[in-house]
Amino acid sequence: MMTELQKKIVELKEEKNAVILVHNYQRSEIQKIADYLGDSLGLAKEAAKTNADIIVFCGVMFMAETAKILSPDKTVLIPEQDAGCPMADMITAEDVIKLKKQHPEAKVVSYVNTNADVKAVTDVCCTSSNAVEVVKNIDSKKIIFTPDKNLASWVQRFVNKEIIVWNGFCYVHDRISVEEVIQAKKEMPDALVLIHPECDKKVADLADRVGSTSDMIRFAKESDKKQFIIGTELGLIERLQRENPSKEFYSAGTVKICQNMKKITLESVYNSLYYGNYKINLPEKTMKFARKSLNEMLKYD
Ligand code: SF4
Repeated sequence: MMTELQKKIVELKEEKNAVILVHNYQRSEIQKIADYLGDSLGLAKEAAKTNADIIVFCGVMFMAETAKILSPDKTVLIPEQDAGCPMADMITAEDVIKLKKQHPEAKVVSYVNTNADVKAVTDVCCTSSNAVEVVKNIDSKKIIFTPDKNLASWVQRFVNKEIIVWNGFCYVHDRISVEEVIQAKKEMPDALVLIHPECDKKVADLADRVGSTSDMIRFAKESDKKQFIIGTELGLIERLQRENPSKEFYSAGTVKICQNMKKITLESVYNSLYYGNYKINLPEKTMKFARKSLNEMLKYD
């Protein structure tokens, strides 16, 4: 059942020929009005192929920027202008240029969780879904991987290449502790532990499965098990519970919330559609180079 405000948003969206793209970590009430609900890779693909005139992006700034870069002729709106990603802000384009000078033979792989100017000086972007495949297939034995040290360490397990790691991290996933996971396993010995690769290496070591949010969704749906301990943000746990009512999903320790993802509310989505708040504008040159590294990423599933 939709609330009055949700119904008004859907009506306005249709009137304006807009599409609402929503990340898995958004509030439940926002997830329910999504035309497409997914992870960074799925959302980037949707943004690239939509026929709508307007994309309302319910996520954080780097995701809305990615949508604009891939669909430069569309109007891309983010309902809250200060919904940034602290991990994306941990590296600048100047940092990457410096690293490239220090390691001229290396190729740069950047997590899609970076600002547009960092993407513009990157060879190939990746998401947590395809990071291993991207690093495996890129034509270089030496990789500069930015900005997430935890995702880099996960990728390193699968590739025989030298990875130069930037010291960035996600404050939400990096907070999940070994002690919390061990305690949750003690309390629910039959549960499977699903961990996001943005978590610390020692936490990933305790997992039955490490994967992106879409991998967790697929895995939990297909599994015969009934209980799952989830090492990622609350929004995904809410989605898993909603879509699998006969199964049980628990946070690995205290509930982890990305405050940045929760800035967007139904009111701000309505205002975004009504007033055109807040339009993404990026310099043409930045978009041109960033598009190259994003298009390389989109070759991988
Ligand atoms: S969950 Fe982490 S990586 Fe994702 S937007 Fe929040 S801070 Fe950034």
